[in-house]
Amino acid sequence: MKFTYCPHCGRELIKKEIGDEGVIPYCENCKTPMWDMFTTSIICAVVNEENEIALLRQNYVSTTNYVCVAGVMKLGESAEETVVREVKEEIGLDVEKVEYIKSYPYGKKDMLMLGFCAYAKKKELVLSGEVDGARWFPFAEALGALRDGSIAWQLVWAVLKAQQIEPLLRKLIVRQKPLYEKVVSGDFSEVCYQEQYDGQEGTYDGNYTNRLRLAYYLFYGHQEKESLVVSLFKEELKDRENNSFQGIGSTLELLTALLGKYNQGGKYDALFERAGNANFDCACGYTRNMQIDPDINAWDIHDAIESAIDMWELDIAGELVQIWQGSVSEWDSRQIAQLISYNKDIVLEERNEGLLEKSLAIVREKGNNKEIISVWHDLIRHQVQFGKWDKAYQNLMQLRQHTKLEEIQWINLFNFILERCAEIISNYPQKAQELWDWCKPYLRQKEDNLYSNLYKKGIDAANAVGDSYALELGKKYQRWQKK
Ligand SMILES: [Zn+2]
Repeated sequence: MKFTYCPHCGRELIKKEIGDEGVIPYCENCKTPMWDMFTTSIICAVVNEENEIALLRQNYVSTTNYVCVAGVMKLGESAEETVVREVKEEIGLDVEKVEYIKSYPYGKKDMLMLGFCAYAKKKELVLSGEVDGARWFPFAEALGALRDGSIAWQLVWAVLKAQQIEPLLRKLIVRQKPLYEKVVSGDFSEVCYQEQYDGQEGTYDGNYTNRLRLAYYLFYGHQEKESLVVSLFKEELKDRENNSFQGIGSTLELLTALLGKYNQGGKYDALFERAGNANFDCACGYTRNMQIDPDINAWDIHDAIESAIDMWELDIAGELVQIWQGSVSEWDSRQIAQLISYNKDIVLEERNEGLLEKSLAIVREKGNNKEIISVWHDLIRHQVQFGKWDKAYQNLMQLRQHTKLEEIQWINLFNFILERCAEIISNYPQKAQELWDWCKPYLRQKEDNLYSNLYKKGIDAANAVGDSYALELGKKYQRWQKK
């Protein structure tokens, strides 16, 4: 609230320059500046010994979302005292410990909310007349019960971060200590460049992940040793210079930030030069002035998940994904796609079927023909991968019925669908003939120009139904390979 008249004598205020504060409304009569006024209140996450949070419902606020305990401070009361009083009044608990988290300005009500975490023993909640319902929520479910982005949501997220995410991040770093000790004792066998080759990956470094883990340990564990940083940097350069896939990567970024601290008189300029040149795929990316926040708690949840995945610490990544999942109350297609991709990364892909079904439902409501076919194909591919042949068959039939497949007949996506169809034919005899009758004319039409997997699977499918077209397609495949 901004004052126009003096609340003490009623006189109209003038504008007066006051020190560093700038121009402030001022009562010439009372000789007093009239600062903008706001109400101070507390908001608090009440946590018990089982890591549950007490949330309450007040129908005048919302009948669906829960809120945190909150209330306005009384004159003469400390904020901590307000917390104790409000928790007792609203849900009948005795607070044992109060911890300040952070403050939140609430512009709509000219209010400053001081956010706290209050600890109390778990017992049944006794509600005041102002409260229409309250219950204990496990940490993971609490965020989903609050309005997304509200102050209560932000506070619970901050508490969750301090109590659940930050310990996981510490674990992520501390876990690398044995590797560090091994290297410090002079054994570089797990972190030196170790060239490997395979058909899919091309040339790569078998020790890349270990070196990445050690770089995280050095950077966020604040273990700095110049000679070690220099050696790791050189090993990393060998990888960057020989790897079939170019790019900078977290290891080089972290090591660059570390090496920068020792570059007095430009003694490591030549190494930075080499790093810049090694990255020939992406000239834009490399800078020797790498700015990385040394506080690991500055990471957001997605940084944390992605780093844990990069370090191949999949159990920690999985726990972080679960925390993130619990924090989302309304899933949109972007978030579903994100979770599907995390589940793949943490090797829990079997969880994705329901998510793919959810994406399909969303895209069928507002997507175009090609988008719908693409998501439907992802679902069928998933079911094929996990041997759910009947479900895959049912979805393929519905896909044919409810989309305009002919519109995409000449793009790759259509060939992928033929490939899935061929896989179902080879593994699901009950419906094989029916599917083959649909699939075969398309294969015939495109038989001179398929791709390796589709030739192979098409031949298998023809054999599965005993169609001599298998031989013909085999010849086409041989001719195509010679091209
Ligand atoms: Zn006055």
